[in-house]
Amino acid sequence: MLQTIQPLIDLANTDLDLQTSVFSRSHLARQIETARSVVDQHQKLFEQKNNEHELLTSEGKEVKNNIQIQEQLIMRLDEQVPKIRNEKEFAVSKTQLEEARKLLGLLEDNLLELDMKKEDLELEIETINSELTESNTAFQQETSGLLKKQERAEKKIAKLEPRRNRLLKKVPLNIKRFYERCQESGISTPVCAIQDKSCSGCHMVLLPQLVNELMANPNAHKNCPNCSRILYFPEVEEVEEEASTA
Ligand SMILES: [Zn+2]
Repeated sequence: MLQTIQPLIDLANTDLDLQTSVFSRSHLARQIETARSVVDQHQKLFEQKNNEHELLTSEGKEVKNNIQIQEQLIMRLDEQVPKIRNEKEFAVSKTQLEEARKLLGLLEDNLLELDMKKEDLELEIETINSELTESNTAFQQETSGLLKKQERAEKKIAKLEPRRNRLLKKVPLNIKRFYERCQESGISTPVCAIQDKSCSGCHMVLLPQLVNELMANPNAHKNCPNCSRILYFPEVEEVEEEASTA
């Protein structure tokens, strides 16, 4: 039998605090990750659109180059016109000029189309860029708070862990083993108070005999018949509650 159940209750409370801090730490890490993913998405889109812009620019350069070639060809053909000696040469020159002008027209249309696409893309990039800046600022603001919270959780864990180990040494070995076994199998609260004549761990209504026994002896403990958690009767809290509601 325990001399007093207090170390076990202290252990249970410390563990609960510790679990809350550990949960909060991983929750914060996830929040930071999520905030970063928004920035990453904008960054990715920004890079993608910039690549598209580069592609359009180099395509435009090629078209401009071809336009220059056609213009030079037309100039040369025009220069040759006065030197034409017969109908046949005239017909060939005419066809060549017509083809060159037709191609030039197509290239100019193409360049115009590319320029328009580029203009639209530039507007899009501008919007994405401001969204990126905005999300980056939001990320900095949000995470500075989150990082501070994370640091606090870290400090709390650093304090609670040794306290937990100290308290664990104070409880009898068999209870310590039970406690560790429970936590290993996922029961995070192996010790819990009786609340409303029920186990506060699994919420099963307890036999009046068990409740009465623990009520009569606040230093004693019993296992819940349903979930086998260690039960204790929170005498002080009950009295205080009754006093405040009265
Ligand atoms: Zn139970």
